Amino acid sequence: MKFAENVIEAIGATPLIELRAASKATGCRILGKAEFMNPGGSVKDRAALSIVQAAIAGGALKPGGVIVEGTAGNTGIGLALVANALGFRTVIVIPETQSQEKKDTLRLQGAELVEVPAVPYANPNNYVKLSGRLAERLAKERPEGAIWANQFDNVANRDAHVKTTGPEIFADTNGEIDGFVCAVGTGGTLAGIGMALKERKPSVKIALADPMGAALFSYYTTGELKSSGSSITEGIGQGRITANLEGAPIDLAYQITDQEALPILFDLAENEGLLLGGSSGVNVAGAIQLAKELGPGHTIVTILADLGTRYASKLYNLDFLRGLDLPTPRWLERAGKIDP
Ligand code: PMP
Repeated sequence: MKFAENVIEAIGATPLIELRAASKATGCRILGKAEFMNPGGSVKDRAALSIVQAAIAGGALKPGGVIVEGTAGNTGIGLALVANALGFRTVIVIPETQSQEKKDTLRLQGAELVEVPAVPYANPNNYVKLSGRLAERLAKERPEGAIWANQFDNVANRDAHVKTTGPEIFADTNGEIDGFVCAVGTGGTLAGIGMALKERKPSVKIALADPMGAALFSYYTTGELKSSGSSITEGIGQGRITANLEGAPIDLAYQITDQEALPILFDLAENEGLLLGGSSGVNVAGAIQLAKELGPGHTIVTILADLGTRYASKLYNLDFLRGLDLPTPRWLERAGKIDP
């Protein structure tokens, strides 16, 4: 018999899927790592598991203890499933602006949700800072104790990708990988995979795909943290060098607009059966840029971070997209036109 003893064992070992249109357009082999196939539906299950395991090993997290985190949603979903499987509870601080689908999932999982206004990191009421203070308070109030997952500056996040995601990519490509590219939320995915790949093959190019409104494209091209514009993508777009990003081996950086990422995202759904979240559109747009820079014949890997169903009310909602003057999915324009 082959089975996982609990859901945690089902995290990771996700497949690489060739992205046909992106490969054809560039003459490269562009592969997407299907992180949406993790049990919590995103790349963040890996970080959540690694953070919880490190807290248990360090003695900070005791049976029945509370895990507190500020998250755009996916880390919270990962933490809630790991916590439920291992006998812990979760308190999640989330900006109100995040999709209803992610908030509903967290509630269904039994996480206690604290919705707060979205304010910049410099503001003391930013969701990340609030979650840190709440963890401190709950640690004193609750006899079973509480910890702050602190995904942005806890490098157990990046370690998950150094130890699992990066080696999986290297093994599945037989080491014949020339480039890796993805966007940054905490930076755990990009830095961790980048470090694992560079260690095994120093010639691999590591590239950042940055959405508008984030400051990292500017940082990695000019040395200055500066941002402009905005993006409807969730879970990505960083304004500072987190602890997870420190020492990340980043060779190249691209800035990706929603206007560029959305048509790619919609084509992937309609023509390749991959209905994905917004960060995956930015990632694939970045992979196309990197492929153009490296030239035909190279193998490039990126991350398919989560599914589009998590953003039905936004990314795949005609009214929402039209209101922002953004591209729309053709098949939704046509929907409901067949007479029964
Ligand atoms: N895509 C999505 C959908 C996410 O939720 C996140 C995590 N916030 C990322 C990408 C970025 O991953 P990381 O935090 O490892 O930079």
